Amino acid sequence: MAARYAVIGHPVAHSRSPEIHLLFARQTGQAIEYVRLLAPLNAFAATVADFRAQGGKGANVTVPFKEEAFRIASQCSPRAQAARAANFLRFERQTIYCDNTDGIGLVRDIRDNLGVPLEGKRVLVIGAGGAARGVIGPLSDEKPAALALANRTEARARTLAGLFPGLKVLPLDRLKGERFDIVINATSASLAGETLPLEGLFSEGMLAYDMMYGKEPTAFMSRAAAEGARAADGLGMLIEQAAESFFLWLGARPRTLPVLEALRKEL
Ligand code: NDP
Repeated sequence: MAARYAVIGHPVAHSRSPEIHLLFARQTGQAIEYVRLLAPLNAFAATVADFRAQGGKGANVTVPFKEEAFRIASQCSPRAQAARAANFLRFERQTIYCDNTDGIGLVRDIRDNLGVPLEGKRVLVIGAGGAARGVIGPLSDEKPAALALANRTEARARTLAGLFPGLKVLPLDRLKGERFDIVINATSASLAGETLPLEGLFSEGMLAYDMMYGKEPTAFMSRAAAEGARAADGLGMLIEQAAESFFLWLGARPRTLPVLEALRKEL
């Protein structure tokens, strides 16, 4: 019988996770079902419990439930523990195990797919929400020369920096004059078509990475490219975090590049 998995979120209709996991399953010869589950905002834990009672083996978790997913789990990986947020649940006999695969997904996309090493680089993350929370630890494991965080609400960046010693907080509206090799947009500003105050931040040869993805380049990517930077979107991150989830559930590691190509064509 096919093992059952789900992505749980609110909203969730936009999620590409079912397609990605079914392509991985086909490629590795696994029998799985993978569905989208819309959880009411006040009933994430109940939605997880129902799915588990119906034979679900695990779930990915998306906005706005990643911190709650961490709280309902009884065992967590060190990277979920560090982020205090989880996008991965595995249901075991008596327990729920959680992990956070967003960070390793981002690192693999930048380092392996785009061929840009993080070691020794000056890296800036903009944003301090759920996505930023999941990626700071794995980015810092790559040993960048400097890792800085800027967020519209500076207090939120400071809270996050409290979890990760060594992370430097910079004011978002005063980044001019700072030099970075890699700038990662982990805000949802592109989602609303809003622009960030990024005067003087981009330069020739640097990487500007937007976690958002879509058919067209985001405003962040267009601006970076116009100022000479290499621009990339977050589709590769999405697929790499899914591949890590698939491996953690099923023990099979899918090849990600064919899936990235297939999804890119469908955007
Ligand atoms: P959250 O809602 O948790 O956080 C949103 C962040 O964006 C906050 O830091 C917020 O700042 C900032 N922000 C929103 N609007 C603006 C604006 N106009 N100007 C400046 N800052 C702004 O969202 P997530 O962290 O979960 O997601 C962030 C983005 O990452 C989304 O676009 C999401 O789609 C993407 N993502 C992509 C993934 C992938 O696999 N490719 C995985 C996970 C997320 P403030 O604190 O001041 O409100």
